[in-house]
Amino acid sequence: MKKHNFSAGPSILAKEVIENTAKAVLDLNGIGLSVMEVSHRGKDFQAVMDETVALFKELLNIPDNYHVLFLGGGASMQFCMIPYNLLNKKAAYLETGTWAKKAIKEAKGFGEVVVVGSSSDKNFSYIPKGFAIPEDADYFHITTNNTIFGTEILEDYDSPVPVIADMSSDIFSRPIDVSKYAMIYGGAQKNLGPAGATFIIIRDDILGKVDRYIPTMLKYETHIENGSMFNTPPCLPIYTCMETLRWLKKLGGVEVMQKMNREKADLLYAEIERNKLFMGTAAEDSRSIMNICFVMQPEYQELEKTFLEFATGKGMVGLKGHRSVGGFRASTYNAMPKESVEALIAVMKEFETMHAK
Ligand SMILES: *Cc1c(COP(=O)(O)O)cnc(C)c1O
Repeated sequence: MKKHNFSAGPSILAKEVIENTAKAVLDLNGIGLSVMEVSHRGKDFQAVMDETVALFKELLNIPDNYHVLFLGGGASMQFCMIPYNLLNKKAAYLETGTWAKKAIKEAKGFGEVVVVGSSSDKNFSYIPKGFAIPEDADYFHITTNNTIFGTEILEDYDSPVPVIADMSSDIFSRPIDVSKYAMIYGGAQKNLGPAGATFIIIRDDILGKVDRYIPTMLKYETHIENGSMFNTPPCLPIYTCMETLRWLKKLGGVEVMQKMNREKADLLYAEIERNKLFMGTAAEDSRSIMNICFVMQPEYQELEKTFLEFATGKGMVGLKGHRSVGGFRASTYNAMPKESVEALIAVMKEFETMHAK
């Protein structure tokens, strides 16, 4: 049976990306060696690193005064590296979900943290508006897509201080104005590649402003000066990221992605609204185009498990919502074809016919 992969992360990758990675695992560019067994400092892997960085810059239109790095440690490691390197006295954070809370917790170990806005009062179902960013903060940290709660910041904020964004789950899903951010980072395993690589886009001028000692491995300058090769980078995950970016470029880049993602999300949100059994959990003006969260209507609550089993039986994978929201979450990342969203909608309709009173 065909599987439709709605997993939140690690998540769906384009078939062609997986096939090309499989080929490189057996033989990288016909050199008779696997991408897994060559030196990261040799010319064959250096070419992979260079192309991945070049595609990042090209596809996101990254200005020249930014560096693109690939490190280990996941987005979670950045939650501590950011304040370690950049928080002198005070930092501002927007609290929009579980990942934002984790970032805030780490920053508090390094200085004063001002939470300028929070949606914790309504279980993070919306993006706060009308907050003020203190002008004396060292930076302002946001999570653009809240993977667990299905909300997303779809604008590039104006800010009096440098903006740092966790874009783990929406990088390359739409065009962004990189010049409005001092740093963008995330784990690759949502919309870009397999787990193991962390991407970082960082502007020079925010560095070197704190007085504390920063351990060599945790210092951004170390990795900038060594082109992400101070130590051994996650070579195989980086290779797959390169294949994803080649695929993305061939399809037409982030503008085309945005159109496709918008179309998929609109289809699914429309069905959630129309269907008598289901309801969405995110406020309409804050809804994510990457993670679509929904639950059973109160009078059909007891059917939650039955629906999951029914959908699983039809080939749907990874639909169970995160435990802090419950219900269902359909992740519709770049690599998800519209056909999979249509298949899910057909399953929802069939289930409605069977169960609606
Ligand atoms: C998954 C996720 C993280 C955590 O990423 P790791 O690479 O597992 O540390 C952080 N932020 C967001 C928005 C995420 O979706």
